[in-house]
Amino acid sequence: MVARPVRDAMAQPMINHRGPEFAELLARLERGMRPIFGTSSDVVFLGCSGTGGLEAAVTALFSPGDRVLACPVGVFGYRFAAIAREHGCAVEILETPSGAALDPQALAARLADDDARDFTGVLLTHNETSTGVQNDMRALASVLRGRVVFSVVDSVSGLGAAPFEMDAWGYDVVVSASQKALAVPPGVAMIAVSPRGWAAMAQARGEKYYFDVLKAREFARIGQTPWTPPIAILFALDASLAIFHTAGADASFERHAEYAQRIRTGLEGLGFRIYSRPNAHSVTVVAAEPPRGVDANALVAALREKHDIIISGGQADLAGKIIRIGTMGHLSSRDVERALGVMAVEVRIEEGFRKPRNG
Ligand code: PLP
Repeated sequence: MVARPVRDAMAQPMINHRGPEFAELLARLERGMRPIFGTSSDVVFLGCSGTGGLEAAVTALFSPGDRVLACPVGVFGYRFAAIAREHGCAVEILETPSGAALDPQALAARLADDDARDFTGVLLTHNETSTGVQNDMRALASVLRGRVVFSVVDSVSGLGAAPFEMDAWGYDVVVSASQKALAVPPGVAMIAVSPRGWAAMAQARGEKYYFDVLKAREFARIGQTPWTPPIAILFALDASLAIFHTAGADASFERHAEYAQRIRTGLEGLGFRIYSRPNAHSVTVVAAEPPRGVDANALVAALREKHDIIISGGQADLAGKIIRIGTMGHLSSRDVERALGVMAVEVRIEEGFRKPRNG
């Protein structure tokens, strides 16, 4: 859900994207995003969704042939690995059981066991939307500290909802997108790069044209983007960042954590099993297996068709097995309570249908 002032911001008259107003907007957006990434380094904005941002990061930092360790904890992590493979990187996968977070010790062991010791990069996911799993990015950062390997973090569905300290933790490239915790319509990816990351990008080879992060930085220095930007979405992001910083980051972190906790408790009370392991819960997405006799897809459809409430089902292997409820966007605690109340009714109806009738 997008807040009214954010939607209204998109209806402003367009501005010249090669003019002074745009330069001010771009500078303000960068100032607004830096503390959310936890960086004082440069942040660039690309006209694309999160996947475009991930592709831009991978193609900017790595050259074909580079060895990259991907650490997926769900569908989006595997997509991240596929992007690197498509770019010609030699991708190895560190597997994690579904529903669990990446174990920092497993990462440390995999890097230590690497005889060649020549991984160029590690791909990590801050928050995995398909499984409702959040990784402990501070603990993972401590494993990487002091190593030559470059880290790229997908924080598409984490940034803004949970603390992230890119500089303090030492990550090289972090990618997010407009349409998740910042509650802006889709269309802009944000990429923050460490000084070490920028230096490595200057050396990397490989094909890219539109999604060129270095070119985006070069143009940002003169207050522009290389190509025509999605100005209306940038207006919306500007409005959303103003709301975010007025309330303060902690308010956002607390709200997402509180809603996620409330949803987990509510679902457990209805007989659901929370899919993420106890130490791996996401604050932006709750994934849960329905109680026996309740069809996940039928529940998603009933909420949408009868109550105009949008929740999701599972993706890939988890299709039909779980439901997912997002806490991102302009939600109130009443929205959360209403969704849980309606779910309680629908779960009872579903269970009732499937119970054998007496006589
Ligand atoms: N990574 C994560 C963790 C996501 O949740 C998503 C989208 O849901 C993506 C990547 C892909 O982003 P987009 O759909 O904006 O391309």
